[in-house]
Parts: sequence; structure tokens; C-alpha cells
Amino acid sequence: MSDRNRQVLFEILQKDGNNRCADCHTTEHVDWASCNLGIFLCQDCAGIHRSLGVDISRVKSIKLDYWDDDLVKKMAEAGNENVNKYYEQHLPKYYRRPSKSDKELLRVQFIKAKYERKEFVYPDKQAPYSANKKEGLLMKKGKDRKDFFPRNFVVNSLDNSIQYYNKTQLIESIPLDDVNVVLVSDKAREKQNCFQISYPKGKSTRHIFVSCEDPKEAVEWYTVIRSAKWDRRRLAFPAMSEDELAKDLTTDFGCEGWLNKRGPNMEPYKRRWFTLDRRKLMYHSEPLAAIPKGEMYIGYKDVGYSVENNNTRGKGDPLEFLLKTPDRDYFLKAETSEDKDRWIDVLTSIISTQPSQADIKLYTGMVRSGR
Ligand SMILES: [Zn+2]
Repeated sequence: MSDRNRQVLFEILQKDGNNRCADCHTTEHVDWASCNLGIFLCQDCAGIHRSLGVDISRVKSIKLDYWDDDLVKKMAEAGNENVNKYYEQHLPKYYRRPSKSDKELLRVQFIKAKYERKEFVYPDKQAPYSANKKEGLLMKKGKDRKDFFPRNFVVNSLDNSIQYYNKTQLIESIPLDDVNVVLVSDKAREKQNCFQISYPKGKSTRHIFVSCEDPKEAVEWYTVIRSAKWDRRRLAFPAMSEDELAKDLTTDFGCEGWLNKRGPNMEPYKRRWFTLDRRKLMYHSEPLAAIPKGEMYIGYKDVGYSVENNNTRGKGDPLEFLLKTPDRDYFLKAETSEDKDRWIDVLTSIISTQPSQADIKLYTGMVRSGR
């Protein structure tokens, strides 16, 4: 290939829209292209495109592969903005566009939905998640069991509920507005395509873990919960912009992992699985526990919340740190120094941020339930 062609290709890449990945919008390592679609891609999305097959997407390296005049011309004419105008013309606002750091499951299904199934070109293909109701069988982890059992689930935005049944017997009806749903990967190793539904129940948070065989179906369930919440918000706040309505339909956990914890009386450390859901910090006996052993609201620094790197009352263990709340102090110990830094960073950032209206609602909910 001539140096001139590669030079032209690099010039096209600098244009608006082409300098970020057509799919995940990262600006890092956008060194790849799909030459039949006419788009520029990051390394990770290019890998997923390759798995679609060359009849859908033909991936080439900008730096290493041969580019003839015709292909370079095609890239100049097409480009990310033009091509996305077609492939994302009906991308619903509630649909989660994966970012670079998102889970493989979301990334693969977004790309397949976009180019293979063309769900965002033909809105009728969105039926599995765009209707205000979805029913089907999911495998649900037993509350105090390790096993998963088939349960019939119904998401219904009209009556604000996610319900699940054992055969025809209703087990639980969960208010949709209160639900957060998070895709799970590492912590449910033996289960594929798993997601976690969390909601307040009585004095505590309740987690439900469900999985399905088909990755496409898992993302459809995840998306239908987002779509149903969006639908309810749209009816409640008709003047709100579509972007505003789509904010925080679901929120990934800010941080998760094992920490050792002890109370103010310096009891022996207990190993607990910690999960930070927005401003709510929960600890559990194990990663897939249905109910936390304890949970606390993480408030603003001005009202007595802080996190300290050095545990002054500990014995100088470099992995220890201290979380102060107005009620009590939590002595925590990470398992690696990276983990400790990660937790301190996330907690410090929350404590330094003023709570939103939604945070205050969460806090008053926890106070009302006596925690
Ligand atoms: Zn990408």
C-alpha cells in the first residue's frame, strides 16, 4: 500500500466522529476499521466485529493492513457519524450503550443488536424489550441455597412491578421504581449471563440473582427493566427531556469485593463481601447472599463522614483503613494494597460529593426502616 493512502486514512481518522470508536465511543486505540461498514473502531470492539463474520463486518488494521484506493475512498465517504445515523436511527434512549469499561456481555450484545440484528434500524425488532410487559422463565438462585431454580418472571410497567412465580404461585412482587439491576460476571463464576436485582424490603436490602442460557435474552431482560422504568418516568415527568429521563435507570456498583471488618470494640476481623450501591454500602457473608448482614448510608463530609488511610487504633497494618460515620467507626482491612486504594478512592469521592435528591430519598428510606 502506498504511504499516501495510509496518510489519507489517518487524515480521515482525525475528522469529528471518526476519532472515537463508532460503538463504545472511546478515543483510546481507535486503530481499527470495518472496511465494508466504513467505520473506525477501538481494538476491543474490532475484536467483537471480527466474531460477527466477514459478511457483516470486515475488520482491518489502520496501521498494519493493506488499503487500496477504493477502500480509502469508501472510508472517506462513510465514516462513523454517517454510518451511525443509519445503524442507530432508532436507538432507544433507555438502551445502554456500553462504554470501554463495560462488561463483555453488554458490549457483544450491543454490537450484535446494532449490525447483525439491526434492532436500531427496525423498531419492531425491539419488541422483546420495548413493550411495557415481558414474561418468561429465568433461573433464580434460591434465597438460602446455592442452586438456581426455574421461576416465571413478569416485568410490568403499568402496575409498577417485577413479579416472580413458582409455577402459578406468586412468590414476590417488587416495586419496579425501587429496583436497581446490575449485570454480574466475576462473582457468579459457575453461572453465565447473570444479573442482580436489588431493592429495599422491610428493614433491609434484598438481592435476587437470576441467570439465563442465552446472552441475548439476559440483555433483553436487563433492557426491559430499564425500558419499563423509563416508561414510568416519562408518564410521571412529561416535561423532562429524554436524556434526563434516561439518567440512572440502573446504576452499576461503585465498588465491590472482599474486605475484613471489625467494630469499634476491636473484635476479631470478619471477612465480608462489600457492595457499594450508589451511597449505600452493604456487607454480606458471601458474594451471592440474598440479604446483607449490614448496610449503611455514606453521607457528605460536612456531617461527619470520612475515610482515613491510616488506622490509628490498629496495629499499623498497611492494609487497614477507617471509615467514620456519625453513628460509629468501621475498621476495615483490604486483602491487597490495590484493593485498599480502590476503596479509599471511591469512598473519598462519594464523601466529597453533595448528595442528590435521590440520595436523600435513599437515606430517609434507610432511616425510616430504622437503620
Ligand atoms: Zn469500541
